[in-house]
Amino acid sequence: MRNVWLVLCAVLLSSPCMAWNGRGHAAIAALAQANLSPATLAQVEVLLRDDLDRYEQPSGRKSLAAVASWPDEIRDVAVKTDPAAYRGWHVRSNQVCGQKLGSCKDGACVDQLIIRYAAVLRDHQQSPRARNEALKWVVHLVGDLHMPLHSGINRNGGSAKVVLEGFDLKPDATFHTVWDGQLLDAALKGWKSGARLESVERLAADAPTQWMIEARDVALHDSYEPLAGFVCSDVRLPEPFVLDAAYQQRSVPVVRQQVERAGLRLAQLLNEALQ
Ligand SMILES: [Zn+2]
Repeated sequence: MRNVWLVLCAVLLSSPCMAWNGRGHAAIAALAQANLSPATLAQVEVLLRDDLDRYEQPSGRKSLAAVASWPDEIRDVAVKTDPAAYRGWHVRSNQVCGQKLGSCKDGACVDQLIIRYAAVLRDHQQSPRARNEALKWVVHLVGDLHMPLHSGINRNGGSAKVVLEGFDLKPDATFHTVWDGQLLDAALKGWKSGARLESVERLAADAPTQWMIEARDVALHDSYEPLAGFVCSDVRLPEPFVLDAAYQQRSVPVVRQQVERAGLRLAQLLNEALQ
């Protein structure tokens, strides 16, 4: 039965994976919006009132889900003239088998940027445009940070070639793009989280970094360790990585857990920043 379900997914999810990434961000943003306080929701509506798209034209977008992929969109435009634009902003290269955090030059990495943009959001002296863009960055990056492979890398891993059983992958597919795309979509298909924010504790100043460390450990235990032959050592895993039906099935609750964590934490962060 499990195999039938996976094969069905493979047929239904035959679109290019990059186009699907936005579905994860939208799911996280929608869950967050459903958990905003009325006062925060009202402020979000004001901040999105004159929202601009990637070409700085009025976007007409009014929900967090609608704007959640804007940082990817502006990067796609910017890299046409500057291939290094926004490089490293959506990730942090923490080794899954180490304790030391990855470098973060000039604060341009996922957890530090969330902290920086959350401060802009809190600051009513900032211009409406700056706070609008800060909101879109925070919404997007809290999502990225919870994708395990955005917070944890291995000696060989993210860019490794993969075989995804039941799928006919494009030649440029990698371990990272499969987690961003096909595994995410399989977990989201037919599922909508009804999780509700219950935490009453205030977020610590370094909460995004703590979330990232947790996501790095998810990458170790749930993305890498289930790979045949993986051990924390210098031994490079042979490519391609084979992600069989059992691996794919195992990833479903992992992805859903990360989506729920991201959505609820994003709501908490926005409720605190915009109260
Ligand atoms: Zn991103």
